[in-house]
Amino acid sequence: MPASINVTVWNEYRHEREDARFARVYPEGIHEAIAAGLRECDDLAVRTATLDEPEHGLTADALATTDVLTWWGHKAHAEVADDVVARIQTRVLEGMGLVVLHSGHFSKIFKRLMGTTCDLKWREANGRERLWVVAPGHPIVQGIGEYIELEQEEMYGEHFDVPPPESLVFVSWFAGGEVFRSGCCYTRGAGKIFYFRPGHESHPTYFHPEIRRVIANGVRWAAPVAGPQRVFGNVRPLEAI
Ligand code: ZN
Repeated sequence: MPASINVTVWNEYRHEREDARFARVYPEGIHEAIAAGLRECDDLAVRTATLDEPEHGLTADALATTDVLTWWGHKAHAEVADDVVARIQTRVLEGMGLVVLHSGHFSKIFKRLMGTTCDLKWREANGRERLWVVAPGHPIVQGIGEYIELEQEEMYGEHFDVPPPESLVFVSWFAGGEVFRSGCCYTRGAGKIFYFRPGHESHPTYFHPEIRRVIANGVRWAAPVAGPQRVFGNVRPLEAI
């Protein structure tokens, strides 16, 4: 069996504590639902962290021992401390994987890593979403069929102001007629980033078996590889010149 991938599941954890509608869907918080899905996988070692913990649960030690960080935030993006964001960015450039979920598109860390507004259209529609696989050979769709269907989700629509993905894995269709690039892969430095769209706080999306499978696949894809240390700066020549 491969060595465990250390995953930290980060959640803002405000909606579920402040509003009974969302607490009913996620009684232990969105992070515990995501973590429970990942804990079904023998190759993943999972812990959680939330905004209101000291340093948001993302101390230098915690990040140093994290292979892949997953991120769910929405209403409190601005409360994430800039020094913690800088720390996460450094770790991504060093090779830590980052899986950004749903409204995490507007998080400080995702916007910083993308360099664009990351804005989009949205509507709390309670309508159907169909996520079409558009990269059938990609490791993130291992075990997934032609598409995933969610009976109820929030709508996100194009234009999604992100850089063109290096790999586009899913395109979503919504009952209202909109489409959205809902599975986008990037590299930044030695790190890999997967943005995955579904997961509004009022829908039980993170209990859906195929959504759980995609997130686990995304974690595995984003995990660091034992590649070379990155070397920068002035160097001596390897050959006599
Ligand atoms: Zn949402």
